[in-house]
Amino acid sequence: MIGCDCGTCRSEDPRDRRLRPSIFVEASDGTSVLVDAGPDLREQALRHRIRRVDAIVFTHGHADHILGMDDVRRFNVLQGRPMPCFGDARTIADLRQAFAYAFNPATTKGGGLPRVATFTIHGPFCVGRREIVPVPLLHGERPILGFRFGAFAYLTDCSRIPDASWDLLGGLEVLVIDALRDRPHPTHFTLEEAIGASRRIGAARTYFTHMCHDLPHAATSARLPAGMELAYDGLVIEVGSRPLALSSENL
Ligand SMILES: [Zn+2]
Ligand SMILES: [Zn+2]
Ligand SMILES: [Zn+2]
Repeated sequence: MIGCDCGTCRSEDPRDRRLRPSIFVEASDGTSVLVDAGPDLREQALRHRIRRVDAIVFTHGHADHILGMDDVRRFNVLQGRPMPCFGDARTIADLRQAFAYAFNPATTKGGGLPRVATFTIHGPFCVGRREIVPVPLLHGERPILGFRFGAFAYLTDCSRIPDASWDLLGGLEVLVIDALRDRPHPTHFTLEEAIGASRRIGAARTYFTHMCHDLPHAATSARLPAGMELAYDGLVIEVGSRPLALSSENL
């Protein structure tokens, strides 16, 4: 955190160096999906050598999840086409407002403009041959989306899981879920709430994400139940017979 001298912010443990939250999901057939495009997208793509993104799926339109979208310009060049971007109606509207220059037909075409094709999510959808199941969540009062990819689910930025969404989360091998800090917060699960939700979901392995500096990596990890860990930037997880590579970037 800018201007903070707490133990986490001064820590030399690389797992305490947290960029904004985003994951990269790669299926065994090579299909790759980025979940969110935060302000650190460029650095994350360079650090993890991401060369190809078949689509971006957005959880919601908050700045820490969308402000790197301009960097799809490089993927436009590499892949020779607009970037497919999926989100709920409100998120697509947020993208169009935040990046008005990219969507305004009056803007001169050519160098320097991200090219995106937006798709509104109304239910399960496919990127390549991979099915992605949206999981409605509440982030404070705001409805947002988590996503399920086979036996893996990513639920960032949530403070409540609506009744109808629990059924979408059965039989998970790996769950990644929001756990901001210990103190209550209006729009994010506390660590205790996230542990409770994780127990109810019952994934074989759970990783917490979107932690703030209240939760230093090593000390917090030491007090987590079995099967639960803090995610960290650069973490790679393999899931099932169809491996998914995941690099988790935290707030
Ligand atoms: Zn701090
Ligand atoms: Zn948010
Ligand atoms: Zn966030």
